[in-house]
Amino acid sequence: MRILLTNDDGIYAEGILALARALRDSAEVTLVAPDRPRSASGHSITLHKPLRATPVSVEEGILALASNGTPADCVSLALRGLLDQRPDVVISGINKGPNLGLDLTYSGTVSAAMEGAIVGIPSFAISVASYADNISLAPAIKFVRRLIASLPAHGLPRYSLLNVNIPAVSEAEIAGVQITRLGRRHYPEHIVKRTDPFGRNYYWLGGDPPEDVLEEGTDVKAIADHYISVTPVHLDLTHYDLIPEVKQWALSPE
Ligand code: MN
Repeated sequence: MRILLTNDDGIYAEGILALARALRDSAEVTLVAPDRPRSASGHSITLHKPLRATPVSVEEGILALASNGTPADCVSLALRGLLDQRPDVVISGINKGPNLGLDLTYSGTVSAAMEGAIVGIPSFAISVASYADNISLAPAIKFVRRLIASLPAHGLPRYSLLNVNIPAVSEAEIAGVQITRLGRRHYPEHIVKRTDPFGRNYYWLGGDPPEDVLEEGTDVKAIADHYISVTPVHLDLTHYDLIPEVKQWALSPE
């Protein structure tokens, strides 16, 4: 089994290293990941400057390449040139912080897995739903092993991936596993406006944590209830139900 590991927290992040160490005994593990934190970089790719992939030493016996590109660049580079052999699975993570609902569109973690899905390699995005330090990664690692073990029997169709969130609780407190749909989180509109030393305004996005909408069957609710959430995600964003409606718009020239 050949595993390509990547992330958006950077190649020196705890999550990717823990995963590499855990999987190396049972698989050929290669890391290709950003050389610095690139969270919330979405599916951005680099077209107008050269990309580098520099071998770095993260763990003896594991090939690790740090790239100046985005998470999506890293997977693209790996699959289209860096790796001699095609990996059997692409795993992005373990991300520090949840990737739920609409956050997926901003997520570098999930976008990296999308690159794997685009080339037809089974891909998983793995996140632990907390930004706190000292969170045990053991439940996430254990679950990744179960996902990998399920692959030979099931596989994943092209253009799809599994987005996995692990609740940040002890193993004993995990309520189970739910297969979910994407939920909703409302972000309080919050922009901090300040003045720089030269008298010009600058702005900072962020602020208060999102308010979760706790609908049954969603990833947001599953995590709130301490379940591991597995959402099958497809890259086709088409809103099929809206096609007939938009056909009614008078959009063709007279
Ligand atoms: Mn991240």
